[in-house]
Amino acid sequence: MLVVQKFGGSSVSTIGHIERVAAKIKQAGADGHRVVVVVSAMGDSTDDLVSLAKAANPDLPSREMDALLATGEIQTTALLAMVLLRMGVLAKSFTGRDAGILTDHHHRRAHILSVDASRLQRAIEEGIVPVVAGFQGVDEAGNVTTLGRGGSDLTAIALASALKADRCEIFSDVAGVFTADPRIVSDAVPLDHLSYDEMVELASQGAQVLQTKAVEYARSNQVVIYARSTFHEAQGTRIVAKNLDNPSVTAVAVAKKIVKIGLVGVPDAPGVAAHLFSRLAEKSIDVDLVIQSLSHDRLNDIAFTVSEEDLEKAQHIAQMALVELHGADLIVDANVSKVSAVGSGMLGRPGVAARFFQALADAEVNIQMIGTSEIKISCIVARNDAERAINALHQAFALGRAKPESNPSTAN
Ligand code: ASP
Ligand code: MG
Repeated sequence: MLVVQKFGGSSVSTIGHIERVAAKIKQAGADGHRVVVVVSAMGDSTDDLVSLAKAANPDLPSREMDALLATGEIQTTALLAMVLLRMGVLAKSFTGRDAGILTDHHHRRAHILSVDASRLQRAIEEGIVPVVAGFQGVDEAGNVTTLGRGGSDLTAIALASALKADRCEIFSDVAGVFTADPRIVSDAVPLDHLSYDEMVELASQGAQVLQTKAVEYARSNQVVIYARSTFHEAQGTRIVAKNLDNPSVTAVAVAKKIVKIGLVGVPDAPGVAAHLFSRLAEKSIDVDLVIQSLSHDRLNDIAFTVSEEDLEKAQHIAQMALVELHGADLIVDANVSKVSAVGSGMLGRPGVAARFFQALADAEVNIQMIGTSEIKISCIVARNDAERAINALHQAFALGRAKPESNPSTAN
């Protein structure tokens, strides 16, 4: 079997950790598999590089940011290859450029255009374990680019696809994809499997196990993914084309750092929403939920949410739009979160939304905005309520560990 194994930052944070990873790779070789390895930067070193860059130039020039951030992953490749060589495993480090990863020119959020895996292929044929720097490639002009935060997942999946690997294993410090974030919901359980569609929704709703773009790439190219723990032997979560269990809700997720921006009293006329949202789009601001109320006195209120990191830019644009549109007021609430439930069986089961809203009502959580897709329900709630809300949802859809029947206090 040809396996791509990707190790995240927390799995390679020290030489001791790198030794554990190397032992795992050596074992896979001893089990008869050919292995291609993709690594992230050690621990929090990408964040540390970002801090250095802020001190060097607060404008963060994007080409140089990529030149800088790409070095984090490169360090890990050389160190891991050194440890593997010490352990008697033939290994060789590769940058994104060496691995043939060609991207578009959008620094810091580049998309992969193609992969020329011939150098990796040759190494594999020579019995060498290639250790590839995740998160990076080069554009057509030869500039180094990066693939967005969490982008090593995308590197691994793109290489698995190009090399026609049998599977892509994404190792991290958690044992796969859970029914909820186990740090917030104590009885969350790892899922055996879920579908690409469910995983894309969960990743974009705040579950941090896999990069959204990476899962989309895997879905388009039918790459078999296992999300597993570096530190435990469990198989982890398999991500597959279709979740045959067809559950109404597979998992819940919370995105804590959301902000809500509302324009009050703008004209109820064609082009108003287009005016606002095209300006947000020009600045590459990702707008999530949008609501427009019923109009009154030929005026409307429009509210939308963005992630906290876009607050300043989005607020500035909204303020300008408010003036241009002669609106009455701007409301900014930087203290909200989004809770979501995702499940491939939601479609055609009308009771799911009612149960979702009832769970929040019973937990006395006020709903500020609602958004849905075919397989997802999301609500914006006060940030203080978010953990209570997600626990209530997890319980309402009975996603937790089955309670021992002998314990009467936990029976319903
Ligand atoms: N090191 C990069 C980040 O922290 C890429 C990755 O870890 O996947 O986002
Ligand atoms: Mg990561």
